[in-house]
Amino acid sequence: MKKARRILLIGGTDSSGGAGLSADKEISFQLHFAASIAVAAITAQTDQSLLVTHPVPDDALRAQLKCAEQMGFGAIKIGMLPNRQSIATVRDFLLRHPTVPAVLDPVFQTSSKAELHTEETKDFLVSELLELVSLITPNAMEAELISGVSCKNKEDLEVAAEKIMSLGARAVLVKGGHLSGETCLDLLKQPTKTHYLEHSRLQARPICRGTGCRLATAIVCQLSDGKGLLKSVKKANEMVRDYIASTPEGS
Ligand code: PLP
Repeated sequence: MKKARRILLIGGTDSSGGAGLSADKEISFQLHFAASIAVAAITAQTDQSLLVTHPVPDDALRAQLKCAEQMGFGAIKIGMLPNRQSIATVRDFLLRHPTVPAVLDPVFQTSSKAELHTEETKDFLVSELLELVSLITPNAMEAELISGVSCKNKEDLEVAAEKIMSLGARAVLVKGGHLSGETCLDLLKQPTKTHYLEHSRLQARPICRGTGCRLATAIVCQLSDGKGLLKSVKKANEMVRDYIASTPEGS
């Protein structure tokens, strides 16, 4: 029998529709994957500001995860987890599925600079989930917060990635798109290998939201198909670049 192409998306909703679970769902649909969804938080946002964040009650998060278990999934994407309780629930869930590839996108801030986590939950997220996921995908700012290493250039990314691995990560993709320079540099670090992925810089689009969400979910779809990490990251990168390029520049 053909294996169902279904993944599980855990994270927050974004009422503007640009980021969070709706972005995850869009890219998984593009890759012909069905997706079960477990909403951990509801956010009210525009492109300019975050109005409200509401954690979903723990019994509701657990029930959604139970439904996902009944439907089956080949890989897991974890986005926004708003509080200690949701992090602990997802930790317990991951412990029940140790062989399923999981990618953690540690979303700390929106692009409008609103905080999606408190300092305390950031530390808890790292201490509880880092060792349980196959890959963590921080941008330079998130890598800085996790590692304590200031990330301004290629050498800094390398040191930060090294530090994140020493905290227990199995693999880390540090996204350097927000650093200055003519090209964008991402760094994929695994225990014995480091890959630098360099791309030409696309013109910034003001309302191009949810690029990090889309990248992590596209990686999850590839991993669910049994692809290797480097191949998965390269394909996901191509898809996100296509998404950015298709967003009107003046919008
Ligand atoms: N809001 C939610 C619920 C998210 O999950 C994310 C990213 O994962 C964001 C906002 C941040 O997206 P952006 O960087 O486009 O603001």
